[in-house]
Parts: sequence; C-alpha cells; structure tokens
Amino acid sequence: MLYESTRGGAAVPFEQTVLRGLAPDGGLYVPDRLPVLCARDLESIAEVGYRECAYDILCRFAPSFTNRDARACVGAAYGDNFDDPSIAPLRRLPDGTFVLELFHGPTCAFKDMALQLLPRLLVKCAEKTGAQQKTMILVATSGDTGKAALEGFRDVPGTKIMVFYPADGVSEVQKRQMTTQRGGNVAVTAVRGNFDDAQAAVKALFADRALADEAAAQGWSFSSANSINWGRLLPQIIYYVYTSVKLLADGALGGRKAAFIVPTGNFGNILACWYAKRMGAPIGRIVCASNANDVLTDFIRTGVYDRNRPFYRTVSPSMDILVSSNLERLLYELTGRDAARVRGCMGQLADGGRYEVEPSVRAAIESDFLAASLGDAETLRTIGNLYERTGYLCDPHTAVAFGALGALRGELGDELPVVVSTASPFKFASDVVRALGGEPAPGFAALGQLSARTGLPVPAPLADLAELPVLHRDIRGAGDLRDPVLDFLKA
Ligand SMILES: *Cc1c(COP(=O)(O)O)cnc(C)c1O
Repeated sequence: MLYESTRGGAAVPFEQTVLRGLAPDGGLYVPDRLPVLCARDLESIAEVGYRECAYDILCRFAPSFTNRDARACVGAAYGDNFDDPSIAPLRRLPDGTFVLELFHGPTCAFKDMALQLLPRLLVKCAEKTGAQQKTMILVATSGDTGKAALEGFRDVPGTKIMVFYPADGVSEVQKRQMTTQRGGNVAVTAVRGNFDDAQAAVKALFADRALADEAAAQGWSFSSANSINWGRLLPQIIYYVYTSVKLLADGALGGRKAAFIVPTGNFGNILACWYAKRMGAPIGRIVCASNANDVLTDFIRTGVYDRNRPFYRTVSPSMDILVSSNLERLLYELTGRDAARVRGCMGQLADGGRYEVEPSVRAAIESDFLAASLGDAETLRTIGNLYERTGYLCDPHTAVAFGALGALRGELGDELPVVVSTASPFKFASDVVRALGGEPAPGFAALGQLSARTGLPVPAPLADLAELPVLHRDIRGAGDLRDPVLDFLKA
C-alpha cells in the first residue's frame, strides 16, 4: 500500500506520509486502496477491546510496521492516560440515542484520540526510515489542538514541541491548560494578535529556508501536528469501526446501520467516519453538524462551496472555521481520484473562495451525508433541554450535533443514531452553566459551580488548573518568533 497525493504527486510509503504531513505538491495524502473488513474481520473485532482494535486497524494502514512496532505505538497511546477503561465509551440515553464520548483523554477534548497516537507513529516512522534528524513540532493553535499536541509529544524521545497561541484569542481555561504544561521538551509562547496572526507567523517559520538549514545543522527538522496529517486521521477511523461493530455484535442494530452525527469544523473527524464506512463498518448516513459557520451545510445540500461569508465567533469555537482542509480528501475520493479536478477546485477556492462540484459528485455526497447547522441560542437551549429531559450533560460542540439530530431524525429512517461527543462540558463550563439557566461565576470558579449544580465531578485534568504553577510566560510579536525557535532548539 502506498499513499498518493490528492493533487497528483508521487505516491510514498506510510512512513513518509506521517513524517511529511503535507505532500510536496500541496495535496493531502490518502491510501491508494482502502483495507476492506470482511464479515469475519468484523466478528473478530467484536470480541476485542479498544487497544486490540486499534492495533488491527493500524497494521492494515501501515504495512511495513511489525506487530511489535504497532503494539508499542498503540500500547503507549491508549493506556492509563485515559480516565475511562474503554477509551471511547458509548452511552445509551433513556430515549435510545447513543452517545460516543471521545473526551476521556488527558486534555478532555477529542483531539487526544489522535494526538496520543500520532507522536508514537512519528517517532517509529523516523526510526524505520533511518532518519538521523530529530523532529521539532511547531503548532499554531486556536485552543484545543495546542494542548492536545503538548500532551501527546510531552517527553517523547527525539522530539521537541513548540506551541504558539494568540494572546487575544483563547479562553482562560485553554490558556491556563497550555501555560501550565509540564515536560522537558515543550515550549509555549503567546503571540500578540489573533489566531490568524499566530497562524501566519508559524507558516512563515515553515517557509523560512535559512531557519530550516540552521535547524538541520543542529540535527533537527520541523514538522506539524495539524489535522492534514494522515497520521491524525487514521486514529480517528478506529473508534468508528470499533463502535459500529460493537453495536452490531450486541444486537443493538437489529439489521439496521448506525448513523453518526458529528460536530464538524475541519472535516477530519467526520471524514474518518466516511473511511470507516467505506472499509465495511456497519455505518449508514453520516450527519455533518455545523454552527453558524455553516459553509459545509450549504456545500452538502447544494454542491457549492463558498467561503465568502461572514466569520462568526460562536460558543463552539473549535468549529469556527470557513476552510475545511480535509474536504479535499473526500473530493478526491468522490471524483474517482481525479487529481486534476481537485487541483482545479482548490485553485478556485484559493482565488475566488468558491467552487462547485458536478451532479455525479453531488449525488455521491447526498447518498452518504446529511447536514444541519445551529446558531448559538439554539445550541445553548439544546444543552438545557437535553439535561432536563435525560439528565445527560453535554458541551456546546456536542450540543450542535444533538440539535442537528433533532432537525434530521425523520430523514434517518430506521438507522440507529449515535451522537459523537467531542469535549467535556467542563471545558466550556461558563457557557454550560448559562445554558442550565445559571449566572456563571468568573474564571475557573465556573467549573466548581457546574459541578455543584449537576453533581458531576470536575475531570481531573481540569480540576487543579487554577492552582498549577504557570511555567510559560513568553510573549512575542508575530514577526519575532525565529529567535525563540532557535534558542529552544539549542536548549
Ligand atoms: C476540533 C474539534 C471539533 C471539530 O473537528 P474537525 O475534525 O476539525 O471537524 C469539534 N469539537 C471539538 C471539541 C474540537 O476540539
């Protein structure tokens, strides 16, 4: 199995896709053929736990990994760093709806599912290709990715990680999660400005040849941990296969298929669900749930992708995005792997912010996907109603999915709905308190307040945030990141 670029460049082995992240032609890597799960495979997955399923899926996508390589990666990624022994627990609500909880990792958001495994894959891939360089990860973050990447790479041998967050663009909880980060190979720097400033500054670092040469002379190469890397998508396929197969084996499906409702931003999580379906997992319709930044809802309904629209800051900030990078992979697959067509669309997107797909692609999208979007007021109302009706407390991102399910239930027919939950409600405690009709206490006090109100414990990784020592206080101008990077390399 090789990995090809969605823009037509040369295919490369698994190791290179993970080490490079982005293909040199600007495209994204996808496997040249998908592993297929036959009925016997599904039966054997039904009998094992999460780790064993992860091992099975990883081996299928990384043919050069030995059993030992794969076991070492998976064992380190999904161990006692999750606060639930089933890693991705599935809950059944009184009304029969299932919820797949993906927030039991060290940072209480679903990014952990992938970012606990990616660093292990990266180190193993470097080792197997005989790469002499050590890897320095540079990340610009609007919140959740930075912390999850820091936790994932913390003290991983042969790596260092440096995270840049916008001084005026992250929540108090998110900021404190990053500035209190421990680990001998981590650095965290605030960048004056908003997320676009931080992201542009980090892109400039990646484009700086002289900087790359200086780093190489010290034995380091730069890499990225963001969601365009196949090594981040692969771990997400695991929980869709695992969950749908378990539902099948438990008899919960009764001859039907599972329909997953996915709170969506960069289209990574939902695309992993589509790949799981293509591999043969018992999955029916996949619902794309968006907040007020509803560019994907329109695309799925009309075939027109148009980012020329206002950008809204919402109560589900991890989905505030107008250019969903991973959609390029779906386009590639649904055009019959037509790289020229993908290049055309991406060119139009870069130039005019808009492209349109032909009727055959539209029909293919419509047969797999449904879409709905929710505004903030409706999102908060959904949290309150759900809690009142079922006693289940969800975060604002997950609430967008519950709202979308409410709007589309009729169209799902007899498929069994599974709402994908992407964050702990405590991570967004102020808005959740508000949704329950309370007046949120300032700062970190909202976490205790939510706990007192609901009787649920504050998750351990968030509980002592207010008391943890702040270890990272560096703040820089966007044009002034080169020196800190070099200093950190030498440190
Ligand atoms: C990143 C994130 C999402 C969006 O996932 P994509 O893969 O970018 O579509 C949704 N919810 C939360 C809490 C997230 O952190």
